[in-house]
Amino acid sequence: MQAPIDLRSDTVTRPTDAMRAAMAAAPVGDDQYGEDPSTHLLQEHVAALLGKAAALWVPSGTMANQIALRVLTRPGDEVVISREAHAGWHETGGAAANAGVQLVEVGRQGVFTAEEFEAAIKPVGLPVFPPTTLVQIENTHNRGGGVVFAQAEVERICAAARARGLASFLDGARLWNAAVASGRTEAELAAPFDMVAVAFSKGLGAPGGSLLAGSAPLIAAARRHCRMLGGAMRQNGFFAAAALHGLEHHRERLADDHALARGLAEALAESAAVHIDLATVQTNIVVFHLAPGAPDAATLVAQARERGVLLNAFAARTVRAVTHLDVNAAQLGHAAQVLRALLA
Ligand SMILES: *Cc1c(COP(=O)(O)O)cnc(C)c1O
Repeated sequence: MQAPIDLRSDTVTRPTDAMRAAMAAAPVGDDQYGEDPSTHLLQEHVAALLGKAAALWVPSGTMANQIALRVLTRPGDEVVISREAHAGWHETGGAAANAGVQLVEVGRQGVFTAEEFEAAIKPVGLPVFPPTTLVQIENTHNRGGGVVFAQAEVERICAAARARGLASFLDGARLWNAAVASGRTEAELAAPFDMVAVAFSKGLGAPGGSLLAGSAPLIAAARRHCRMLGGAMRQNGFFAAAALHGLEHHRERLADDHALARGLAEALAESAAVHIDLATVQTNIVVFHLAPGAPDAATLVAQARERGVLLNAFAARTVRAVTHLDVNAAQLGHAAQVLRALLA
């Protein structure tokens, strides 16, 4: 039997032989004594890439987001996020449990305007309201279908936040994809924000790890919370070396993932059983909806699995497919055929 074509996520990639060799050769030390050279190198390199003064490697994107909330808010505060943001949907309630904040969703399809953000800020001056202290943007937006947030709007939102004394945070787990798709540098995309998180375990193909970047005082505070949450690691250089390898060898090729996602989306759009807004297919994620009369998401996912194509059911009639380093054009073509046949 052939290996399945795994489109569940870009997290399913396994390190390439070259990445494994880079990991094996990495100089390492105890990072809690500040003695892991590979982690230092990665942090300095990515801080510069993001145009920030300092950076901290953390084990996961979820932990990066949790730490950012703890650094930038106080319990009882309110945080404005996009509709269906990772922070509210995929972190198992962590914002409430770990930072004690409540989340307010605004906009649609992963994006929102400065006006929608400002309308969501609670009035100040009366003690009945929770203080709105942070705005968070997810770029690219996972549940929104991998859409890129328009940078002009990002700049307006962050300027409005700053003018009112609110902090701003970029969940850029897939910022690399946003950069490739928009033709802007990661530093440009991160510039308006106080803090930014990026992931190495998605499109870059590393086995794990994310990074938080910001000013030196914010990163010093983040370091304490990372330890408090149990994220402080020791010979972490093996992970750092994988991240450095992914940055060097797997960043530009994200354009290939985007092209394959586009092809799959266009093939699916021809089916009457599929509702998909092709305008949302800007990067490596294809989120599509099943029309009335078509099988539901769980049924389609189970049937596709039997035919060697793995997908994620995102909601009762919503399915996600993600392209990545470990799927090629021939496999995507086959997956499209399988799905078209199941939906015919
Ligand atoms: C994957 C993802 C995360 C979390 O990353 P993990 O490493 O899986 O915890 C955070 N934000 C977004 C937008 C993501 O897609």
